[in-house]
Amino acid sequence: MATLFDNTLKRLIEAAEHLDLDPGFLGKLKNALEMTQAYLSIRMDDGSIKSFLAYRCRYNDSLGPTKGGIRFHPDVNADEVMALALMMTSKCAVMDLPFGGAKGGVMVDPHSLSIMERERVSRAYIRAFAHVIGPDRDIPAPDVGTNEKTMAWMMDEYSTIVGKRTPAVITGKPVVLGGSLGRDDATARGAYNIIQHKARTLGLKRGARVAIQGFGNAGMHMAQLMATDGYKIVAVSDSKGAVHAPAGFDIGELLAAKRCGRVMNMAGSAGVSVIPGDELLAVDCEVLVLAALENMVHKGNAGSIKARLIVELANGPVTPEADEILKAMNVVILPDILANAGGVTVSYFEWVQNREGERWTLDQVHARLKTAMEREADAVWAYAREKNITLRTAAYVLALSRIAAAMEALGTEKF
Ligand code: GLU
Repeated sequence: MATLFDNTLKRLIEAAEHLDLDPGFLGKLKNALEMTQAYLSIRMDDGSIKSFLAYRCRYNDSLGPTKGGIRFHPDVNADEVMALALMMTSKCAVMDLPFGGAKGGVMVDPHSLSIMERERVSRAYIRAFAHVIGPDRDIPAPDVGTNEKTMAWMMDEYSTIVGKRTPAVITGKPVVLGGSLGRDDATARGAYNIIQHKARTLGLKRGARVAIQGFGNAGMHMAQLMATDGYKIVAVSDSKGAVHAPAGFDIGELLAAKRCGRVMNMAGSAGVSVIPGDELLAVDCEVLVLAALENMVHKGNAGSIKARLIVELANGPVTPEADEILKAMNVVILPDILANAGGVTVSYFEWVQNREGERWTLDQVHARLKTAMEREADAVWAYAREKNITLRTAAYVLALSRIAAAMEALGTEKF
């Protein structure tokens, strides 16, 4: 069976067919620059010692220091980390950021750890990979299972190792430690900016119905932004279950239910029914937001989707086989490397602020994010129209053209 890495590479290779590239460029992009693995040994609260397998992959640095999150999840593995690092390489290029791509992960269920154990894992991660990362080399950030607390511990550990306070080594930090205003909802806001900008082209009307798979940081913020703009949130799911409200949820109630632990807390409210998690994809709606994990839409369930627009807030939520089915159904997909790139874009803003010793206002961050998202969405749409290809292929074409231009400028030794 094709792995996530195979699928990601396949998309890049398909995009390359639309560009006149030296085959050497693609050859270089088939392998990661650097893949490091370590076991993190942690003292647990009960006095025992446990080891967790951890990775950091720097995939490609043609456009600048590598950039990408660190995931804490029991399913983390080398193939997934490399695939996500390749996606980050493309994502940073799509957004025209001066970064290459990277990803890291620890094979652990963060919910099974106490807060002090989580701190020990986070600090141990940095001790293991301090020689790989750095503000001009590789800059981590949050991903699934990590958050601003994790980033604070990691920044502090790195600063201790190098003997100087180094906020620019990591992004997604708490604001009080040099994090950027607006980083918390940046992933969702970036997608929302594109939807607003392209609403007419996409045929979206006020009151359009939205289903959201995955109600973590990105999914929750997306629900809030879209509800405020008049969209109707009709179904949401998290790892514990799914709820459906055909007439639309009261967004305040929904967010409060989630803050108390899970969306299932909505069960019992008027007009809300519980549905099996896998039925969320098939709910009657105009927009389906995928904000959970990779490979959630596959050839076995793609045909049941009713939405006309899919927004990929997660990385790699739709398999290439499902892409084909959805294309035949005329479903438009706003692809991950553009749709969820608001996160890394505000990470870049954070890195710039740290290096300049500046603090931007929330309005400045929002305005710059909106400009960047609209600019690159226009560029992706232009390629799609010009070459008659999907938005996903167009996004990869845009990314690849920028990466290849950098490789070419760097000279023959580099590929
Ligand atoms: N983990 C996020 C992503 O997949 C953010 C990466 C970053 O901010 O560097 O895009």
